[in-house]
Amino acid sequence: MKTIYPGTHSLKTILPGSTIGVLGSGQLGRMFALSARRMGYRVHTYSPDRDSPTGQIADVEIDAAYEDLDRVREFAEAVDVVTFEFENVPAATAETAARYAIVRPAGDVLHTTQHRLREKTYLAKHGFPVTRFEAIRSLEDIQRVGADFGPGILKTAGFGYDGKGQYRVGSQGDITSAWEKMGRQEAVLEALVDFESELSVVGVRSVHGDCAFYAPSANAHVNGVLDVSSAPVAFPHKVAEEAKAIARGILEQFQMTGVLCVEFFLTRDHQLVINELAPRPHNSGHLTIDACVTSQFEQQLRAVCGLPLGSTEMLRPAAMANLLGDVWFPEEPKWADALAIPEVKLHLYGKMEPRRGRKMGHLTATAGSAAEAEWVVRRARGLLG
Ligand code: AMP
Repeated sequence: MKTIYPGTHSLKTILPGSTIGVLGSGQLGRMFALSARRMGYRVHTYSPDRDSPTGQIADVEIDAAYEDLDRVREFAEAVDVVTFEFENVPAATAETAARYAIVRPAGDVLHTTQHRLREKTYLAKHGFPVTRFEAIRSLEDIQRVGADFGPGILKTAGFGYDGKGQYRVGSQGDITSAWEKMGRQEAVLEALVDFESELSVVGVRSVHGDCAFYAPSANAHVNGVLDVSSAPVAFPHKVAEEAKAIARGILEQFQMTGVLCVEFFLTRDHQLVINELAPRPHNSGHLTIDACVTSQFEQQLRAVCGLPLGSTEMLRPAAMANLLGDVWFPEEPKWADALAIPEVKLHLYGKMEPRRGRKMGHLTATAGSAAEAEWVVRRARGLLG
């Protein structure tokens, strides 16, 4: 059957009262569904899970495998537009959905961004700044890359997130043993970036090509996982404007409808290097819920429904701290202690089982400056236990 992506070219507006289908059922879908329900939309979610973070908010929760294309067809036929909160859905799932519904963003964006090697190759080809990288598919590739590559990180090419499937390497021997540990799957070897800080920009593009950008967030990671984000931060040398210009360039290159997050490294000589893309709302943009006129989730809703974009203006500086399952050990977090700070907001994702390293929720604090907000949100998290 011929594959079409009506989402690529369709300008159709999907009005309140319509039904939105979400592929994936995690916290990003949950926060999207909360925005959608507030604006009078119905939400169906599709994933292999039951009583999921998104399913608890959605009107309908379909619990089926992504590979079950008959169920994907039924799901797509029952909704007015399909979007996703999880970019690792198989290509065949997105293609099937696109035969029966508008899919926004279009499946080709998903295809590029769900694979590190495709993503980096695409960015480099279109002149966007990325660190030096090499494809590793065989022992010969490791030989060819040679001993002169320097310190790097070997990452799986597909299905990686939050620093999973990554190994720091310093020699050809390291690369070989890391690649063996990955089970010899396709990988990308990236040169290690000596960065001063990490930042991200969340941008959005409407079906008509209008774009809007949030103030860049400064991001602190722990063990490869985002820990704390804060905004707005005074980056040097017009870095914020340049980061937004790069994000705009990528949104336009993809002709994308939807939300895109671009994660950057800021090198010590103040150059921006793209780390990775997410074609959806991002953890570093969660603070927009409590700090901005329009949250990143409402923007996703507006974009995928063909509506005008909302204001990205920040009403107050803010910081967000993730709550991993670790916070639940040895005992239930002391919620009342953190909430005794009146500027602190609690977001929990409805996950029943707190596991170490699992994203269970986040706290946001607003304050007079990003630095103060960061201090407050870290203190609030410290009060949990
Ligand atoms: P990722 O899952 O690729 O976003 O990587 C998670 C974290 O690992 C990043 O936020 C960085 O802190 C670190 N990291 C990843 N790639 C590189 C790199 N090429 N150079 C330096 N640090 C990196």
